[in-house]
Amino acid sequence: MKKNIIVIGSGLAGMASAAYLAKEGHRVKVVEKNSTYGGRLQTYKEKGFTFDLGPSWYWMPDLFESFFSDFDRKASDYYTLTRLDPGYRVYFEDKEFFDVPENYKKLKKNLEKIEPGSSDALDEFLSDGKIKYEIAVKKFIYKPSLSPFEYIRLDLIKHLGRLAIFKPISKHIREFFTDKRIIQMLEFPGLLLGAKPSKTPALYSLMNYADIKLGTWYPSGGIRSVATAVQSVAVEQGVEFVYDEPIKKIHKKDRSVFEVISKNRSYEADIVIANADYEHVETNLLDKKYRNYSKAYWNKRTMSPSALLFYIGINKKINIPHHCLFFDTNFNSHVKDIYDDPKWPDNPLFYVSCTSKTDLDVAPSGSEALFVLIPVAPDLTDEPALRNSYLDQVLDRIEQKTGESIRSNVVLTRSYAHKEFISDFNSFKGNAYGLANTLFQTAFLKPKIKNSRLSNLYYTGQLTVPGPGMPPALVSGKIVAKQVMKDNS
Ligand SMILES: Cc1cc2nc3c(=O)[nH]c(=O)nc-3n(C[C@H](O)[C@H](O)[C@H](O)COP(=O)(O)OP(=O)(O)OC[C@H]3O[C@@H](n4cnc5c(N)ncnc54)[C@H](O)[C@@H]3O)c2cc1C
Repeated sequence: MKKNIIVIGSGLAGMASAAYLAKEGHRVKVVEKNSTYGGRLQTYKEKGFTFDLGPSWYWMPDLFESFFSDFDRKASDYYTLTRLDPGYRVYFEDKEFFDVPENYKKLKKNLEKIEPGSSDALDEFLSDGKIKYEIAVKKFIYKPSLSPFEYIRLDLIKHLGRLAIFKPISKHIREFFTDKRIIQMLEFPGLLLGAKPSKTPALYSLMNYADIKLGTWYPSGGIRSVATAVQSVAVEQGVEFVYDEPIKKIHKKDRSVFEVISKNRSYEADIVIANADYEHVETNLLDKKYRNYSKAYWNKRTMSPSALLFYIGINKKINIPHHCLFFDTNFNSHVKDIYDDPKWPDNPLFYVSCTSKTDLDVAPSGSEALFVLIPVAPDLTDEPALRNSYLDQVLDRIEQKTGESIRSNVVLTRSYAHKEFISDFNSFKGNAYGLANTLFQTAFLKPKIKNSRLSNLYYTGQLTVPGPGMPPALVSGKIVAKQVMKDNS
């Protein structure tokens, strides 16, 4: 029977779940608090510059493709992908930098110069990463993870050892490499998953395979194009979108019907899918008796880092590639400031995306659009003076490392951090990308996609399975939609 479904939030996960369910003929409405779709994938335009506000790394193109192919479409129906070469540059403490080129042979040659024997080690490390990637993508990632029994099947158990979920990635990398710079470079992709390398399972060396072998890409029109494409797919399936409607409450009207209440009106639904931050939905939208998890549970979770972001327009061209990692300070002390002793870091690592290197439309002619991300602990507060001091530090270090003077060419700056994540997205503790993928927060140990007290209330997005990132958000939407179909067939 066709159902009335309300999806709360138009992030990638919410829009994907809506698209899958509308394709099955259900009547689906996405109700979004903000004035446009896309969740974390927003843009900011000023003085001829356009910045993607959130994500900048387009990795795992196969997972995006898999979403589109479920609707008989291709990513190229909506945007054109360019593989970045180099994928990124890493600036280290000394004068050097290291490029990760598209050409694998060239990369191996560059590595060999840093650590003899490391090019063969890389082959071995990545062929293991490839196996993990394929097992994870084919066998595990689409599991609803409602119970550990989903994983207790002979064909899956035989793969568990290979995935090395009990070994930290920090240890795994050191079994192959000894040079500090190579280790930092290989630990970086895992940081996007939100936990420090000693707490991230070696399973996630699959991210190194994704990074180096599958490549770093840029969609025409910027990352916002991904949100626009997913929203178009949803609309093409018949999904309706309502904006500027923050949901205030989810009630159970009677045994089978929900009432989803915003400031101005209420919506009736047979099924509700919450894509807004899980903790916000539980704590603010549901009565206590209906919550899956207590406040204490949430306070014990390891959140992904938040981020202090700067959007900087400069009126000159500079000689840097599209993505640059500034690993020119002490990696371990920054990691400690995020996870062990959460505080504003003294000398943080940061990364810069200079999208105008690939996309001429994002900056006026002769100018560059720079996006700077400093990962920081969640739940910190700040005031303008603190942000300014980090901006100063970032500009100094970009100048020092690149040898380009830019300070007097800055024509635009904007910053963004915890406060904005909370006010824009109701994000728990101002997290930027959800819950960290630690061992005890992976698969069936993540917050569940189903409410255990209210049937037909589901959760999707970066605080549940499979985890943070754009491809996982699309996968999360599919997992939930399949569960809804199964429960209501
Ligand atoms: C700074 C930053 C950098 C990142 N970098 C990368 C990257 O390089 N590569 C990558 O793959 N991923 C990256 N990510 C992660 C990726 O963007 C997210 O994991 C993904 O977009 C999350 O999608 P989602 O659907 O789970 O949640 P969201 O995008 O948060 O969507 C949730 C939606 O719910 C809405 N909402 C909240 N409360 C309510 C309410 N009460 N009523 C109605 N609606 C509500 C919100 O407004 C939002 O639209 C980054 C994220 C950030 C913030």
